[in-house]
Amino acid sequence: MKIPMSSPNLSDADRQAVLDVVSTPNLSMGPKIDAFERAFCDLTGARHAIGVSSGTAGLHLCVRAGEIGMGDLVITTPFSFVASTNVILFEKAIPVFVDVDPLTGNMEVEQLRHAVEDLCLGGEAARAWLPHRLPEEHRGRLGAVKAILPVDVFGQPADYDAINAVARQYNLTVIEDSCEALGGTYKGRPAGTLGDYGVFAFYPNKQITTGEGGLIITDDPAAADFMRALRNQGRAPGDTWLQHTYLGYNYRMDEMSAALGLSQLDRLEALLVKRARVADWYGHYLAKIEQVTPPHIVESTTRVSWFVYVIRLASAINRDRLAKILAERGVPVRPYFSPIHLQPYMGAMFGFRKGDYPVTEDLGERSLALPFSGEMSEEMVVRVCQSLADALVAAER
Ligand SMILES: *Cc1c(COP(=O)(O)O)cnc(C)c1O
Repeated sequence: MKIPMSSPNLSDADRQAVLDVVSTPNLSMGPKIDAFERAFCDLTGARHAIGVSSGTAGLHLCVRAGEIGMGDLVITTPFSFVASTNVILFEKAIPVFVDVDPLTGNMEVEQLRHAVEDLCLGGEAARAWLPHRLPEEHRGRLGAVKAILPVDVFGQPADYDAINAVARQYNLTVIEDSCEALGGTYKGRPAGTLGDYGVFAFYPNKQITTGEGGLIITDDPAAADFMRALRNQGRAPGDTWLQHTYLGYNYRMDEMSAALGLSQLDRLEALLVKRARVADWYGHYLAKIEQVTPPHIVESTTRVSWFVYVIRLASAINRDRLAKILAERGVPVRPYFSPIHLQPYMGAMFGFRKGDYPVTEDLGERSLALPFSGEMSEEMVVRVCQSLADALVAAER
């Protein structure tokens, strides 16, 4: 029994949808992307949807739409996939990290509030939240707090009532990284609609896939037009092929990807149910294993969109040794996440070091993603849990 870390769910209808596109001459900027975007508006209730070439591209366009630039401060968390911070760096803005809730890995909202208050005060109070040092180009150019970029970690939305209250009070833009949370809900409201902009991603390990791809949703018509233009080499509505009102990108999603996404989206509910069933099996079989804490679901999460299944290990366990033993027994596992502030380039740019964000670091050291997809059988889950129980004995420090 081979157990993959993750695997996409591809149906004959999905394959046919892609084949149908490649038998037409419309391989980009055709009817499929329009239909895919409309389907997302229907699904989420958002007014505008903009399909793009990746989740990262989508987040980057939101940063541009939020007019976040040189020296501006954006509050986000270091317990995430690097893209959520990188898009801030692309525009030479400065990420201000706040630590996360130890149970969910989502933005700790009390810290958010303190950070915004202190950053608005300026001086010593503000300095405590900033990176230890800033790249040369930023010296003397510190901007104001412009935005909050919360991440819906592992398919569970952050606490947006609290986040939006801070945002409204200080007039900040909220960019929701819901790249892991398609289909999840917060107090009954869909992930992706909880801030000013929401972004989804469709890499093959996500809930639905387009190969590579992403999509932005927003209710702001001007921002939607602007992001559409930037996605398409900066061509505003009315520009010809060789006219470019803005400095843009090629962040377009092609027709094959959109057709695949549309076909996958048709099955979203069924896919989410299958993933939730696998998560339930894990919850059941892991309950018998000491030294392992299953994912914690908070009350505000009215539906988890299971993206990965990440457990926390007791501190007595040597996580890396455990991972090695499991890999040898044919059970792939991954540390998840590796803190962003401790990535080599982040240390080089900002002087971050170990100890800066202790909750993120603790989660980073003790978290382990188990093999997970809607395609797993109960038998596979049992195999993983048995191997885990055996390996735990061998991996005790
Ligand atoms: C997947 C993901 C993204 C976007 O990834 P792409 O590979 O660019 O599509 C962004 N943020 C988080 C938290 C993610 O998990």
